[in-house]
Amino acid sequence: MAVVDEPWGSSSEIPSVDAIVTTRRGLALAVLTADCVPVLLADPVAGIVAAAHAGRPGMIAGVVPAALRAMTELGAEPSRIVARTGPTVCGRCYEVPEAMRAEVSAVEPAAYAETSWGTPAVGVSAGVHAQLERLGVRDRAQSPVCTLESDDHFSYRRDRTTGRLAGYVWLD
Ligand SMILES: [Zn+2]
Repeated sequence: MAVVDEPWGSSSEIPSVDAIVTTRRGLALAVLTADCVPVLLADPVAGIVAAAHAGRPGMIAGVVPAALRAMTELGAEPSRIVARTGPTVCGRCYEVPEAMRAEVSAVEPAAYAETSWGTPAVGVSAGVHAQLERLGVRDRAQSPVCTLESDDHFSYRRDRTTGRLAGYVWLD
């Protein structure tokens, strides 16, 4: 988690974080993903935006609630926050061992899923949206695109060696 107010310089200065927040107008925040959930948050009234990367471990660890907390500490109101999640591997495709599903759904029941072929799965995006809902974020929308099912999107689980999708959020 990092609050930023200017572009990062050389790659050696870029911290390893799963979420970034800014109040700086015109500074675009980006999140790179290939199956993980790209989460973009904005309180247009307070002028605060955030971008987060929520994979399965990050969702369980609460990266999105942490980003939301950083925003509210800066003056954002959950009831005003607009949340959008981008293309991600869907719960019908994200197969995991039974024990992993049990572990994930013990922390976030909404992430319990089953693949279209009837085996244990997790829905990371469903988990992220449940977390946002509990924290009072009502204006939420989820991309209908499943990265694994769409040939137009990068998918790590499908291709292993692949590119990344970029999601951006900024204040005008
Ligand atoms: Zn899918």
